[in-house]
Amino acid sequence: MKTLVINTGSSSIKYQLLDMPDGKILCSGLVERIGEAKGRIIHKTGEDKNEKKYTYDEIIPDHQSGMNKLAKLISDPKIGVISNVNEVKLVGHRIVHGGDRFHSITRIDNKVKEAIVELSNLAPLHNPANLIGINTAEQVFPIAEQVGVFDTAFHQSIPETAFRYALPERFYKVNGIRAYGFHGTSHRYVSRMAAQFLNKKLEEVSLITLHLGNGASVCAVKNGKSIDTSLGMSTITGLVMGTRVGDIDPGVIIYMQEILGLGYEEVKKILTKESGLLGLSGDNDLRSLSKRYDEGDPQAILALSIYSYRIKKYIGAYLAAIGKIDAIVFTAGVGENSALIRALSTQNLEHIGVALDPSKNEENSSVRRDISSRNASIKTLVIPTNEEYEIARQAYALVNEAI
Ligand code: ADP
Repeated sequence: MKTLVINTGSSSIKYQLLDMPDGKILCSGLVERIGEAKGRIIHKTGEDKNEKKYTYDEIIPDHQSGMNKLAKLISDPKIGVISNVNEVKLVGHRIVHGGDRFHSITRIDNKVKEAIVELSNLAPLHNPANLIGINTAEQVFPIAEQVGVFDTAFHQSIPETAFRYALPERFYKVNGIRAYGFHGTSHRYVSRMAAQFLNKKLEEVSLITLHLGNGASVCAVKNGKSIDTSLGMSTITGLVMGTRVGDIDPGVIIYMQEILGLGYEEVKKILTKESGLLGLSGDNDLRSLSKRYDEGDPQAILALSIYSYRIKKYIGAYLAAIGKIDAIVFTAGVGENSALIRALSTQNLEHIGVALDPSKNEENSSVRRDISSRNASIKTLVIPTNEEYEIARQAYALVNEAI
């Protein structure tokens, strides 16, 4: 079944067409700079060695036109992978915020759309864009069933003890202020893959999963279910990220406003776009930062030490929250590729049973792997994430009533 996975942002549409249930990627791409003076479409067909990349620079006035263009590309007589857009039978949308209403994949109808609008307060940049993606996809792929996978859904199993903030109760009861968590699709996917890798059922594994990309979060997975996660009501808390601050004393924010006289917009920009690795070192790309670290650059050493120390603190906290765990799982751009971060954040944890095999850790590979030393009682795994496949898998299971 031809299944299109769509991730719509405020000025972009990321897409991947998969043949389900085998998961073969037929094509993928990115429509970007929608509504700007110069738009761009990057479209890719084939996989690995056979991959072909096409780039088109053209004005893309709105999402409707972007969706039409991608539909044309996937069904183009020369480079297309299907002969007619009506071959697309299923569209799976990534939706950022499902609040406490969506626990699993959902067929999209008017009620669901209304809920996405109502939840826009919690994700003002993302939910409205996701809804535009749904509305345009309904017009461009009229035959297809539209389903939504919420980034927050996997974390709906988190108990109140972990998701509540110690604020006056009314802020939760009236305003819905609580931790929701994000990156749920990735944490769910790598948990499933880790269970497979360990030859266990998902309900039998307990893990600490580390999604380390530009955004980053850690999830405590007990018996296959999320019981805590480091992102909260917003996407700026928890781990140190590329440009986001992560955990911070709220008093600092009050100080910035009250004493330093910074306005709300300025503070928001600092915390979300100018902090994290960028703020500490002037760079947020782990590749160049690691090079500087190896060369002995003190700023890079400090930045990566703070980044890894924060991860280690969460490993300790979640180990206490879960009890016995089977494995720590590294995923996403940094988690999958940075041997340095994996080594720093698990250093000196032998006493709790975590120890890496340095040569396995250094191995450059894009496959799932065990990088722990033979005597480690808690395994350390690297599992490449695949959110598109996870969305397509859940979508296919839903329409085939296998969920
Ligand atoms: P997102 O999806 O959140 O934008 P990714 O999961 O693609 O992010 O991760 C992007 C980050 O991964 C980059 O900022 C970079 O720091 C890091 N990264 C990618 N490749 C490598 C590599 N080979 N070595 C170290 N870090 C890498």
